[in-house]
Amino acid sequence: MKLFAVDEPSLGSASVARVEAPGPVFVGKGGVDLICGSCEHVVARGLESASQVANIVMECTNCGGLSSTRI
Ligand SMILES: [Zn+2]
Repeated sequence: MKLFAVDEPSLGSASVARVEAPGPVFVGKGGVDLICGSCEHVVARGLESASQVANIVMECTNCGGLSSTRI
């Protein structure tokens, strides 16, 4: 599923997951892939459910944009 591009969360409102190495922030064995809200990069792969990252803002390693499942 495609994520929503978000701004930097205000301090304490959400966790930001960042990784240094290129590739998805999360890798699991489920069937849900999450796509960056600003480009087409996969930021999380193989989740059981998007609700696993409901309150986490993910930083795309491709474009540096922040994305979240929250609307
Ligand atoms: Zn991106």
